[in-house]
Amino acid sequence: MKNKLITKVALIGGGPACATAAIQLIRSGIDITLVSKEIGGTIRNANLVENLIGYPEGVVGKNLAKSFQLQLAKAGVPIILEEVLTVEQLSNNYSIRTAETEIISEYLIVGTGSVPKKLKIEGEKEAFQNSKLFYEIYNVKQFSEKKDIGIIGSGDVAYDYALNLQNLENNISIIRRTDKTSSLSILQKRVNNADNIIVLNNHVIKKFELKDDKIILDIEEDGKLVTMIQDLVLVAIGRKPNYDFLSEDLVYEYNNPKTDSKLNFIGDVNKNNFRQISIAMGDGMKVAMEIVKEVIHEERYHGDSREIW
Ligand SMILES: Cc1cc2nc3c(=O)[nH]c(=O)nc-3n(C[C@H](O)[C@H](O)[C@H](O)COP(=O)(O)OP(=O)(O)OC[C@H]3O[C@@H](n4cnc5c(N)ncnc54)[C@H](O)[C@@H]3O)c2cc1C
Repeated sequence: MKNKLITKVALIGGGPACATAAIQLIRSGIDITLVSKEIGGTIRNANLVENLIGYPEGVVGKNLAKSFQLQLAKAGVPIILEEVLTVEQLSNNYSIRTAETEIISEYLIVGTGSVPKKLKIEGEKEAFQNSKLFYEIYNVKQFSEKKDIGIIGSGDVAYDYALNLQNLENNISIIRRTDKTSSLSILQKRVNNADNIIVLNNHVIKKFELKDDKIILDIEEDGKLVTMIQDLVLVAIGRKPNYDFLSEDLVYEYNNPKTDSKLNFIGDVNKNNFRQISIAMGDGMKVAMEIVKEVIHEERYHGDSREIW
């Protein structure tokens, strides 16, 4: 371990949840450190964000992510761009470790979002390792032009991915296990109006094979086995909270939250949270304000009369 640092509040995550909390905390004069693999978070995948107030024309996900970077830099938030590998509770503090750094903090805010679910079928891992199958679109967009692309899933994310790739002369198939979708009606309408997007119902993917720079999908369609040959596949079958790095006792606390804890989970990492930017931002703001209130109270009644407002 090369670096060790001590901070009042550590934040893990660079999405809207932690970005909001960090800016509110630093504006209140609290000593913070934000550690994240990157800045922007999951919204880098979004085609067009149209439900965030303040953007009447909508905003492209990647552009919104860039604006988070600019705003964090402008506010002077100290950022460590590293992946957190473990988090443990010490007697009165938390220890957050990356490969390079250990951060010791009194408060900890976890805003690590969600990770895509996998199909867990034959050939999936190999296809991913060979860059033929992806779970996030920001990794794939730069080389997806004039391609046959299969998008597996039936929710908002699958529909959003299809619309995102639509203008690049791709032939896109949304492949659904049933004939139902949980996607927003506005996205369904856009998909139905797109010439180069088709929706395939009752197609259950059984396995993937790689052949001649293509990916072959073995599919069960209404009881029959069929194959489909594609250049790329995107899997968008849902996401799950991301907290693999927590020690066992902190996972217990995640599942059984305490009201007086100095550990807070914000945004998509929360169980059963509606996954939306404004909710992540609201969580971040609320936690930051609660911490500011507690720290000021502590300082007022323990001799330090520093005014923070
Ligand atoms: C295709 C798509 C379209 C969407 N469209 C919309 C939309 O139109 N409107 C809307 O409101 N929401 C939309 N969302 C949802 C929105 O992106 C999320 O609700 C929001 O990003 C959640 O923010 P967050 O800060 O909780 O987590 P995230 O944005 O997921 O951020 C998590 C952060 O934690 C970091 N991290 C994770 N693990 C570690 C680790 N071990 N070490 C260090 N850092 C780590 C990540 O790098 C990332 O910076 C969309 C999502 C997708 C996938």
